[in-house]
Amino acid sequence: MDHFDYVDGAMQVEQVPMTTIADAVGTPVYIYSTATLMRHAQVFRDALSGLDDPLVSFAVKANPNGAVLATLGGMGLGADVVSGGELLRAIAAGIPADRIVFSGVGKTADEMRLALTHGIYQFNLESEPEAQMLSDVAVSMGKTAPVAYRINPDVDAGTHAKISTGKSENKFGIPYDRAIESYGAARDLPGLEVRGVAVHIGSQLTDLAPLEAAFVKVGTLIAALREAGHDIVRADLGGGLGVPYDPSQPLPPSPADYGAMVARVTQGWNVRLMFEPGRVIVGNAGVLLSRVVRVKQGAQAPFVIVDAAMNDLMRPSLYDAWHDIRAVAPTGERGSANVVGPVCETGDTFAMHRDMDVVADGDLVAFMTAGAYGATMAGTYNSRPLVPEVLVSGDKWAVVRERPPIEALIAADIIPDWIGG
Ligand SMILES: *Cc1c(COP(=O)(O)O)cnc(C)c1O
Repeated sequence: MDHFDYVDGAMQVEQVPMTTIADAVGTPVYIYSTATLMRHAQVFRDALSGLDDPLVSFAVKANPNGAVLATLGGMGLGADVVSGGELLRAIAAGIPADRIVFSGVGKTADEMRLALTHGIYQFNLESEPEAQMLSDVAVSMGKTAPVAYRINPDVDAGTHAKISTGKSENKFGIPYDRAIESYGAARDLPGLEVRGVAVHIGSQLTDLAPLEAAFVKVGTLIAALREAGHDIVRADLGGGLGVPYDPSQPLPPSPADYGAMVARVTQGWNVRLMFEPGRVIVGNAGVLLSRVVRVKQGAQAPFVIVDAAMNDLMRPSLYDAWHDIRAVAPTGERGSANVVGPVCETGDTFAMHRDMDVVADGDLVAFMTAGAYGATMAGTYNSRPLVPEVLVSGDKWAVVRERPPIEALIAADIIPDWIGG
């Protein structure tokens, strides 16, 4: 459920007309709904209400905007970060360190030092050399680092190959079959305090079965680790729950279905459960609003050329992702069209042969479900300034990231003095 609705024939975000924002800020622009963010955070927490004090750490990479993080932090969510930059953003947004988890295969010594200085809740380790490095860094600071190993359970998440992370050939986690040895080695490292087990098998999962298979393996490992004398008190079950993008596809499992499965599978584990949802919290809470530059005749279907491009919303070119595209003020007429951006790449295509609202030059269109992995992946390819972001709450709205002037992009380049001109 979201808060992007048609009122008197035109799309609004909560109580703010899309046209108001387009006129004031220009397009393209990302627009987020506070009510939707808060609702999704609440629905996810309600789904876990049967568990004892779970920690829900929002996966910052899905949407790192400070206003979004502050909204979610205010709802009691923590942060799952994958870089020093994300860690600092989460802290700047007021998320307490004892709700921050640090994931990722390539943490550097500097990032480890930063996270230890702030006293984060947990490091999710992904290799034995990383464990060694973290121990060395912690010892050099006179600290111990609370850790879990992320295990690679070798299950097929059934999602797009580029966002599958739990197969043995993926770069993530330690091999499940070697986990006992890896934990044994970690116990001997003076800078580490082994606390738990972590898993995250991929994103945009539309079936609970692979998640359940992975969690069952975590449960088996927890028992084996306890048998081997480890004090396992936490299990981090990652994120990955999918959201509906295409209304013609079956709905992904609901947070409630997910929560019920988790409660069933983890019964008797006797640990604090941790979660790292990203997309399911922010996906439906955002749209990318864009204006039609012009409509050009195509060989089969017309090309609707919009002012948003692959650099603003990469998912279609990166993962062949499907976003619903709606006219802000539909005429009622429908037709087939190809929706493309202005960037000089054929990959700058949002939809081919899409049955959609018929739109004309100057019309506004909304790319739905763009709150996750949207603005955060944007770049400046084709010298297009980063797309701005707006947050709406009821009848209030605010620019929460400005559109930088093109001059800033140009000024960032430094021309050495040996080049004339
Ligand atoms: C990306 C990521 C997440 C969030 O995934 P979603 O599919 O957005 O829920 C959680 N944990 C880790 C380790 C991640 O890399």
